[in-house]
Order: sequence, then structure tokens, then C-alpha cells
Amino acid sequence: MKDTDQSTARRKFLQQSILGSAGAGLAIASTTHVAVGADEKENHEPELATEVDVLVVGGGTAGTIAAIQAGRAGASTLILERNSQLGGTMTTGGVAFPGLFDAWGKQIIAGIGWELVKESVELDGGKFPDFAKVPQRHWQNQIYVNQFLYAILAEEKCEAVGVQIAYYEFPQSIAETPDGWQVDCVGFGTRRRVLCKQIIDCSGGAEVVGMLGFPRLREEERQPGSMLFKIGGGHLPGREQVHRLYVHGADSTNSRTATLANVTGRRSVLAKVRKEKKQLMHLQPETGFRESYRIVGETMVTVNDYTSGKRFDDAISNAFYPVDLHTKSGVKPKPLKPGTVPTIPLGALIPKGSRNIIVAGRSVCSDRLANSGLRVQASCMGMGQAAGVAATLAAKNNTTPFEVSLQQIHQVLRDHDAIVPGDA
Ligand SMILES: Cc1cc2nc3c(=O)[nH]c(=O)nc-3n(C[C@H](O)[C@H](O)[C@H](O)COP(=O)(O)OP(=O)(O)OC[C@H]3O[C@@H](n4cnc5c(N)ncnc54)[C@H](O)[C@@H]3O)c2cc1C
Repeated sequence: MKDTDQSTARRKFLQQSILGSAGAGLAIASTTHVAVGADEKENHEPELATEVDVLVVGGGTAGTIAAIQAGRAGASTLILERNSQLGGTMTTGGVAFPGLFDAWGKQIIAGIGWELVKESVELDGGKFPDFAKVPQRHWQNQIYVNQFLYAILAEEKCEAVGVQIAYYEFPQSIAETPDGWQVDCVGFGTRRRVLCKQIIDCSGGAEVVGMLGFPRLREEERQPGSMLFKIGGGHLPGREQVHRLYVHGADSTNSRTATLANVTGRRSVLAKVRKEKKQLMHLQPETGFRESYRIVGETMVTVNDYTSGKRFDDAISNAFYPVDLHTKSGVKPKPLKPGTVPTIPLGALIPKGSRNIIVAGRSVCSDRLANSGLRVQASCMGMGQAAGVAATLAAKNNTTPFEVSLQQIHQVLRDHDAIVPGDA
């Protein structure tokens, strides 16, 4: 770090303080020592060193499940989340009504995501839809989850299998090593060097994939984001959806664009409060972003693959939701034909030509319309669990996720209560 005017001034101030207090006979050794040490450290190597099998970047909908799965399958695992809790769009964004674990009268996604949702609902005294009944409208089988409980239970499950959680941290630079990766991360007051064999990028925008220079896809005009809030009556978490306002142009690319989205979203909420003269009872801390970068993968899921329910040869999880593209004029979901259950191939999780990195969540390789359906939470959780298995097996066998035997991935998924395409 350069010796800026500011840091020189700070050092002088510290020296003066030390001298001043010592002169008055009031020197507190520890205070003096800490101040000088902290200043010196600024010029040195990362403060923390962490060596793990699997690094998960992004503790959101998919990443939380990926990390728990990796931990349960025996991988030493660290999860980096740049916000303050697990759950991502579901908790920090407030979209606490995950869809869809069932299709056409039966459950098609289970495993760790389902376990977490189920426990949250049970602990909260909430209700489940009857999966045996095919609902008239798809959203009727979404499950109302208490976002606060979900985030705490997710932490408990990570801790139970030794998954280390690092909030407020994110990768700053990445270099390849003979065994995998060296990832230098920062958080406030923290610098950490991570040595890992495998990375699972669950950042929602394929941020690590972008840092590594692999190509990504993004639309010129993305679907709007939404700011979630409640006015005029208390919010009952786990019992209802909150209100939402579109944030057009919401862009999660970087801290500046995300700041703009949050300020814009909150400004719209303020305008509504003023107009309706109702009390603001609940406001999520961050805009929910529907769409961002997607990877260019080994396989792309097209809208035809999605709507025809193509069973990919390397399918690792199911997905289910209408094609659901939000635009400036709203959304008109296009339901899937009866009996159709789309699948997600392992190849869609692998950045083309990469080794030792896998992606899960809304940034998997898919065209825009397919993505508008497969990005929903139960599908992201299913992908997260599969990515956790593939990365763990790759770390154990010193190979890369795309070269792990599919049979082995399926077996470990079944051992951990996931539903493999074709099973349900
Ligand atoms: C308004 C809205 C309504 C929706 N409605 C529904 C619905 O009704 N039902 C449904 O099932 N789905 C719905 N969805 C879709 C669904 O919620 C998301 O597509 C899904 O949650 C995405 O999961 P993810 O794991 O890919 O990303 P996220 O859950 O967003 O997780 C990404 C995480 O990565 C973290 N992160 C990002 N970059 C970094 C970094 N560099 N370092 C560390 N951490 C990082 C973020 O802080 C975040 O926690 C909706 C989405 C929105 C926005």
C-alpha cells in the first residue's frame, strides 16, 4: 500500500498520542502496541491463511446448500458471503417463498434445501402445500418460509459439519496453483489467503468466473429487480408475501450499481408511503436482483430444452417453474405442459474449458427464457447440492468436477436425500 498523505498523518497522530500520553505518565502499553502493529500490518501479507478442499463464494440460495453438502460429504469447506447472513435473495432480498419442490402431483426436488425449508416451516408452526394436488396456479405450491429462522438454521447446519463461514468477505484476486487455487479475500479489518482445491461460484452473477476471465452472458436490458417491503400492517414472516416494487435497471454488477438499485428502490418505497400515508412496517436491506451474468458453459440449457423437459445425459437435478420473464410491463408466466419436468445438466454448471471450478444458482449456462424459469429457489438449491457433491468428489479424487463419474455424483446425491432426475 502506498504511503499516502492520510496514512502519514495517521502515523504522526499516533506517535504524538503515544508521546503525549507517555509524557503524562498515562501510557497504556496494549493500546500503544495495537495501534503501531495495525499500522505496520497494512504493508504485509494477508492476515489469515485458510486451507480447505472447497471454497464456496456466495452464501445465497444455492451456495448455502452447496457448502452444507460439501461439509456433509467430508470436504473441509469455507463459505464467503459478502453480506451479513446466509440465504441471499431468499433472506437478504426477502423472497422467502421458494418454488417449486413439486411438479404434477409429486416431489421432484428434495435433499438439503428441502430439509432446511421443512425445518424452518415446522419450527415456525407454518403450513405446507399438499404436493399430491396439482395446483391451479403454480405459485400456490410455493412455501412461505420465515426468512429469519431460515438464515439461523442454515448457520446451524453449516456449523454442525464444520463449514467455516466468513461474512463480509469476498475474493479480490485469484491465481491458479498446482493443486487448485489461491484466492486472496478481503473484508473490513480482514485479509485472508485461501488455498483450496475447488471453487463453487454461487455469487448469483458468476463473479469468480468473470474474475478468472471466462466469458459470461448478459442481456443488454435485464429483468427488473424488486425492493420488498410492507406498509400499512405488520409483516407476518412465514405466513405471507410482502409488498414489492420493481426497480427497473437494477444491476448487481458492482457496489456502485447495487448502491444505485438500493437507493432507487428505497426512494420508490418512500414515495408510496407518502402517497398512501400508511406506516412502513418492513423493508428488506437490499434489492432482489432477478437477472445478472450467466456463464458460457460446457452445455447451454435452451428454452426448448427447458419447455420440452429434455432429460440431459448428464442431468444432475430437476427444475420446475413456468417461463417467467419480467419486463417493464410486468410478467405473464407461461406454464409448462402437463407432465413436463425440465432437468439441469452438469455441463451447464461448468464454465467452458475450465478446471476446478463449478457454478450453481441463477448464473448457470442457459438462454434468457430458460433462465427465467430455472432460476427459482428450489431449482437453485438442487443445483447447489449437486455442485457440492461434484466439487467434493473432484477434491477427493484430484480431478475436476466435469470429470467426476456421473454415477458417483448420483449415488452421493441419493445418499444425501436428493432426488436425481428419473428417480421421481
Ligand atoms: C424479486 C424476486 C422475486 C422472485 N420470486 C421468486 C419466487 O416467487 N419463487 C422462487 O422460487 N424464486 C423467485 N425468485 C428467484 C430466486 O429468488 C433467485 O433466482 C435465486 O434465489 C437465486 O439464487 P442464487 O443462489 O443464484 O443467488 P442469491 O440467492 O442471490 O445468492 C448470491 C449470494 O452471493 C453473494 N455474493 C455475490 N457476490 C459475492 C462475492 N463476490 N463474494 C461473496 N459473496 C457474494 C450475495 O451476497 C448473495 O448472498 C425471485 C427473485 C427476485 C429477485
